[in-house]
Amino acid sequence: MPDNRQKKNRPELQLWEVTSPERRGGRRTGTDRQSSRRTGASYRTDAGRHRARPIASIRRRRARRRRVILCRCVAVCIFLLFLCGVYKATGAVYRRLRGQADDIKAAVVLTDSGSAENPVPKPAVTVDLLEPNDYSRPQTSLSEVKNIFVHYTANRGTSAAQNRSYFSNLAQTGERSASAHFIIGYEGEILQCIPLDEQAYAVKGRNDDSVSIECCYLSEDGSFTTFTYSSLVDLLTWLCAEYGLTEEDILRHYDEGGKKCPLYYVEHEEEWDKLRSDVGAALMQYAADGQKP
Ligand SMILES: [Zn+2]
Repeated sequence: MPDNRQKKNRPELQLWEVTSPERRGGRRTGTDRQSSRRTGASYRTDAGRHRARPIASIRRRRARRRRVILCRCVAVCIFLLFLCGVYKATGAVYRRLRGQADDIKAAVVLTDSGSAENPVPKPAVTVDLLEPNDYSRPQTSLSEVKNIFVHYTANRGTSAAQNRSYFSNLAQTGERSASAHFIIGYEGEILQCIPLDEQAYAVKGRNDDSVSIECCYLSEDGSFTTFTYSSLVDLLTWLCAEYGLTEEDILRHYDEGGKKCPLYYVEHEEEWDKLRSDVGAALMQYAADGQKP
């Protein structure tokens, strides 16, 4: 109890920040040292008293400075987030516009009714070329065509457009190198992904002298629908006439490297022979029609 009373009566210690004599370039005097010892917290000099400031106000000032810095950091973060938002929005608009342009481009359907050099009419082909990229359209030139390879997508029920998207997306995923000049859908539609003067990534070791056709399918055994089959015969006939080839020059992917592609026509040799003979018959028919007066 007496101790408490003593503490109450003791004058409150007031804290001051002063500039020390050494920092001012002066010498610390004996008075300074005595004063410092007396308070135990800080010391005063006559000169220092004029420069002294309460520590509480310094703390307030520092806190205010910290708040300003914090506010600036938050403002910078918000600005960066805003920039990210603008970048994403611009990208979305760009992709949408580009998608519309692709749709317009995809609407270009090429057909012809044959010519003096090629009496076979070209089937309806929707030209929807892949964007040049290292994984599906390297833009390597194709100078000669000795064979035409037939493939199946090995992905039952997928459409021609979906398989084209798969080839297109390889540019981003870099998962593997793959493509084909044409994709025939299970409804018989034909998409062209690679120009005929460029190589596709379809048959290892033979990309430099062949054209490849991918076929979609619905059946579990891998056989083509009648629509796919019919379009395939038409396209093969036109390509053979275009490059001066015969049905013997039409090969399965299987014939170059042994991959079971197209599965049904690897497992059913007679069906493969039929496909080739159908093309042979069509070629003979067009040749005979061309010779008529
Ligand atoms: Zn194949």
